[in-house]
Amino acid sequence: MVTTATNKLYLYFKYLGYTLLAISALCFLTTITGGNTINPVVWGMSGIGLLILGGLIAIVCSRLPKHVAHQNNGLWQKDLTSRGISAWALGILLTGFYILLYWFPETLQGLIVALEPFSQWLRNKPSDQWFLYGTFYTLAVMLMGVYALLKYRNNRYHLIRTCSVIFFQLGFAFILPGLLLAFNQPEFYFSYFWPLKYDYLFPSTVGYLIDNGQALGVFMVFWGAVLSFLATPVLTYFYGKRWYCSWVCGCGGLAETAGDPYRHLSDKSKKAWQWEVAIIYPILGFVIITTLLLWINSWSGGSLFGDLSGGFSRSYGFFIGSIFSGVVGVGFYPIMGNRVWCRFGCPMAAYLGILQKHFSRFRITTNGGQCISCGNCSTYCEMGIDVRWYAQQGEPIIRSSCVGCGICAHVCPRGVLKLENGPREGRYHGTTLIEREAVTILS
Ligand code: SF4
Ligand code: SF4
Repeated sequence: MVTTATNKLYLYFKYLGYTLLAISALCFLTTITGGNTINPVVWGMSGIGLLILGGLIAIVCSRLPKHVAHQNNGLWQKDLTSRGISAWALGILLTGFYILLYWFPETLQGLIVALEPFSQWLRNKPSDQWFLYGTFYTLAVMLMGVYALLKYRNNRYHLIRTCSVIFFQLGFAFILPGLLLAFNQPEFYFSYFWPLKYDYLFPSTVGYLIDNGQALGVFMVFWGAVLSFLATPVLTYFYGKRWYCSWVCGCGGLAETAGDPYRHLSDKSKKAWQWEVAIIYPILGFVIITTLLLWINSWSGGSLFGDLSGGFSRSYGFFIGSIFSGVVGVGFYPIMGNRVWCRFGCPMAAYLGILQKHFSRFRITTNGGQCISCGNCSTYCEMGIDVRWYAQQGEPIIRSSCVGCGICAHVCPRGVLKLENGPREGRYHGTTLIEREAVTILS
């Protein structure tokens, strides 16, 4: 039992954390706007140091005094987590950062220069906008990973899952690509595969990797193809899409850590479900067609489609790769929830979802008789699944969109829900592919 005096201490330290975070924001602002009058490395690195220190103090002091059963208390009352003014302000800030990063990186030059010594140390290359992005992205996953570890500290599944996403982001999506560059090898992300990293199987990238990486480059192409077409179906058969979306993927990693305070904002309506089906599968089709066109064009020496395939590729990169996955996918966390990209846009999620629904052992079993219809499970489902409806029917949940985060089971006060990789007997036997009109839900 935490005493009142200890609670007061936690509160004071929490405010100290917030103060350090505010000073860190000022340091970043000075780094960006200071021009030649300041030393950007000193200001930028001070900002990062204060961000880590202030963030850790604030997270520990806000999570630790709260009982594990009370971690979500007040989410719908707090301005920042219930689409209040501060949530909109944060959304605008994040969206603005992405727009500057993608299309006006010169405005962030101060921050890019601030990371120059770190970039030289890790990658033996000058810092650039993508190194800036990777550094802040990894920091966000790690800091908010601590938040998730403390919030779900009584649940082994979440502890291991959170450590896993931190490990893959830090090791496979940040340090390893940096070291590859340091050793003059092609930059490669071993934790991202086609169709999410759509260009990894484009002829231009395959050619680049083989020409510049020699044996390692051939291995990278081999790795990408095997992971996309062999390992993904096999792992999804055994574990559902959770092995990737909730354990490995960087987008999922950010959603499960930095996005966790916003998971309840996902739209649970039937309309949203229909939009989900209507958007995500065409995007998967778009990637497949673009990849095929590029290969046909490459084999025909460019005589068959001219620049058509290149136009497809550029359009996909701009509308889906940049605007949807980056700007909307993360910038809209505080307004639309943490899995907007994963739910509506990610072609990898669509591919995994088809496998999960039709060829997997994964399901969430429900013990309907125990359900008290509190609705916690539906509220905290980040993918907008009305979990309660299935629980009330006593039906196993086999939805293509479920990322197996397990939060529905964690917040259920009656132990109704259980994530299983059991035998396929008794499982939903869907034969038709998902169609927009086929969507059914309690209305
Ligand atoms: S149904 Fe449960 S496990 Fe699946 S995404 Fe929703 S909360 Fe996560
Ligand atoms: S959280 Fe548990 S008890 Fe509450 S509605 Fe969902 S399944 Fe039922």
